Amino acid sequence: MIRANKHFKKLQSSYLFYNIGLRVKAFQQDNPAANVIRLGIGDVTEPIPTACIEAFHGAVDDQGVRATFRGYGPNEGYPFLRKVIAENDFRPRNTGIQADEIFISDGSKCDCGNFQELFSPGTIVAITDPVYPVYVDTNVMAGRTGSFNDGCYDGLVYLPCTPQNQFKPALPDQQVDLIYLCSPNNPTGAVMDKTCLEQWVSYAKENRALILFDAAYVDFIRDDSIPHSIFEIEGAEEVAVEFRSFSKMAGFTGVRCAYTIVPKACMAYDENGEPVSVRDLWTRRQTTKFNGVSYPVQRAAAAAFSDEGRLQVRALTDYYLENAKIIRAAITELGLETTGGEHSPYIWINAVEDDWAVFDRLLQRASVVTTPGSGFGKNGAGFIRISAFNSRENVMEAMTRIKQNY
Ligand code: PLP
Repeated sequence: MIRANKHFKKLQSSYLFYNIGLRVKAFQQDNPAANVIRLGIGDVTEPIPTACIEAFHGAVDDQGVRATFRGYGPNEGYPFLRKVIAENDFRPRNTGIQADEIFISDGSKCDCGNFQELFSPGTIVAITDPVYPVYVDTNVMAGRTGSFNDGCYDGLVYLPCTPQNQFKPALPDQQVDLIYLCSPNNPTGAVMDKTCLEQWVSYAKENRALILFDAAYVDFIRDDSIPHSIFEIEGAEEVAVEFRSFSKMAGFTGVRCAYTIVPKACMAYDENGEPVSVRDLWTRRQTTKFNGVSYPVQRAAAAAFSDEGRLQVRALTDYYLENAKIIRAAITELGLETTGGEHSPYIWINAVEDDWAVFDRLLQRASVVTTPGSGFGKNGAGFIRISAFNSRENVMEAMTRIKQNY
C-alpha cells in the first residue's frame, strides 16, 4: 500500500495566496464590472530590462546553430554567470566570496525550500514571525514539526518581529540549529543592520548553528551602510548560506533564475561532531536532483550585470521604490503606521484591527487586493502587506480608492 507522507496533513489547509485567490474570484463573480487592482502577491509587472532580453535572444539563436549549440550545462551554472556575480555582487562589498561558491538555480523558492534536506530530521529550526511561508512549510513536510496549534507548529522556535523590536528578531532563548533570516524582509519590509547581523553570526558560531540568509530583495537597498550580504559580517562564511534571485531585481519571475552562495568554509557536523562541508552536501544534492538552468536564461541573467544592464536594473527597482513611496504616503495620511517600503518593495501596515476584515473591506469597497498579515504568522495578525509591484498608474489609482474608502 502506498502511504502518503503524514506530515503533509499538518500543513494549513490552503496556502495563503490560494485563499486570497478564492476571495478575489468570488468578488469578481459578484462584481464583474469592478477593475480589481492587485497589490497582494509579490509578482512583478514591468518588463525585463532590454539588455537581458537582447542577450536572451542572442543565446536562443546560438541554440539553432551547430557551432554554438549547447546541451546540458554545468550543473552549478555556467562560469560566465558565476564570475560576473562574484565580481559585481560580492567583491565590491569586501566579501571573499568566489565564483565557485555560487550555485545558479531556477529560483530562490526552490533553493530555500530544498536546503533543509541537507540537515538531520532532528534539527531545531528557528523562524521569524511573521515569515515567508516557504521556510516553515518545507520543514513541516520534512517532519521537523508537530501539529499546528494556536497559530504555531509545535517544535518550531518562533522569533517574534513586532513594532516593539522594530521588526528585528531577538536571539532565541533556547538553542537552535538552523535559522532563517530575510533582509530586506518579506513581509515586513524591514532591514537588518550590521549590529543585528553580527549578533546572529556570533550566536551561530557559538552554537555551531547555520543561518540561511534570504537576500531576494537586496537590490532595493538604497543605504550603503545596510549590509547587502551576510558575508559582509566577519566570520559569516563559516556559518551562513545566502539566497539571491533575479526575480525581483530584473523581472525574472516568469523566466526563473536565482543563485545560492555556499562558502567553502561553511560546515555542518556529523553524529560525532566532525565537520562536514555544506558546500559538498549541496553539490551532491543538486547533481542528483537538478539539471541546471537553461543556457539562454543564464545569458539573460549575466546581462543584468553589464554596464547597460546595471543601469536598467537600477531604473526598474527605482520604479517600484517610487511606487512604495506613494503607498507609504497615502497610508500615513490615513493615520496608520507603516514599516518597510524604503529599502524594500513591501509596505507593512499596522491596521490595528482584524487583518482579514481590512482585506475584505479594501476588496469590497476599493477593489484593491492586499495581503492579510496573519497569513505570514501569528505576529502578522492586525497587519496588512501592500506590495509596490504594479504600474504607477495602478498604484496611484489604488491609493486614491483606499484613501476614499478606508
Ligand atoms: N524569498 C523571498 C523572501 C521571496 O519573497 C520570494 C518570492 O516572492 C522568493 C524567495 C522566491 O523567489 P524566486 O522567484 O527566485 O523563486
